[in-house]
Amino acid sequence: MPEPTTSSSSSKDGGKLPPGMVLGPDGKPCKICTAFRHWKPSSPTGSTSQQAGTGTSNTKSAAAAMAALAYGTNGAPAVPETRPANCPPDVEILGRATWTFLHTTAAYYPEKPTPNQRANMLSLIRSLPILYPCSHCASHLEDNMKANPPDVSGRFGLSRWLCERHNDVNERLGKKKFDCGIKSLDERWKDGPSDGSCD
Ligand SMILES: Cc1cc2nc3c(=O)[nH]c(=O)nc-3n(C[C@H](O)[C@H](O)[C@H](O)COP(=O)(O)OP(=O)(O)OC[C@H]3O[C@@H](n4cnc5c(N)ncnc54)[C@H](O)[C@@H]3O)c2cc1C
Repeated sequence: MPEPTTSSSSSKDGGKLPPGMVLGPDGKPCKICTAFRHWKPSSPTGSTSQQAGTGTSNTKSAAAAMAALAYGTNGAPAVPETRPANCPPDVEILGRATWTFLHTTAAYYPEKPTPNQRANMLSLIRSLPILYPCSHCASHLEDNMKANPPDVSGRFGLSRWLCERHNDVNERLGKKKFDCGIKSLDERWKDGPSDGSCD
């Protein structure tokens, strides 16, 4: 799959994109591939283009179009800074929820899984690059999994493997890497810290 187009690029029609905006494989703004803060304009009168300092009319109209796409309104009042909890997810909310599910599932995966459990875990993991709604995330994961095949041998191997895949994304996004030792992973995803603050 080709690399997604982001902020500094142009859309298919040649219009400049607001910073952080990601285009899908169809060349259109991809809502589930884009963080909400990059999707909406930053103020009622201005647009994300002002943040970027690239106030071309193309950029402004792109930002307005994004807001209209996101909210089904055009020229509407400012989009609120924080969205109600029942709004559809953006790339970050979906990511956090997916990682929570995956790391927690790994933390509770048996140390000695049956062949059936292994097969099902493999099937779950292999479905991600096919089904994950953020297309460029899925595409990166697919490439990453080719180089690093899933370890479903038991919860230690699986937890580490997932942690490393998550760290690959963290690294790509310029975030800190997580300690993939089982102690840190169990503390985060299963047992909570020893100070009892999560008990
Ligand atoms: C398969 C997949 C691919 C993704 N690809 C992209 C992408 O290409 N581009 C993009 O913008 N976003 C991508 N995301 C979303 C991205 O990874 C984050 O979920 C999102 O940016 C929100 O980040 P966050 O800082 O809130 O914490 P997250 O990265 O979501 O992490 C949630 C929590 O997990 C813990 N944690 C962090 N790292 C690890 C680790 N290595 N192992 C175990 N626990 C850890 C931390 O406590 C953290 O608070 C992807 C998500 C998934 C599930």
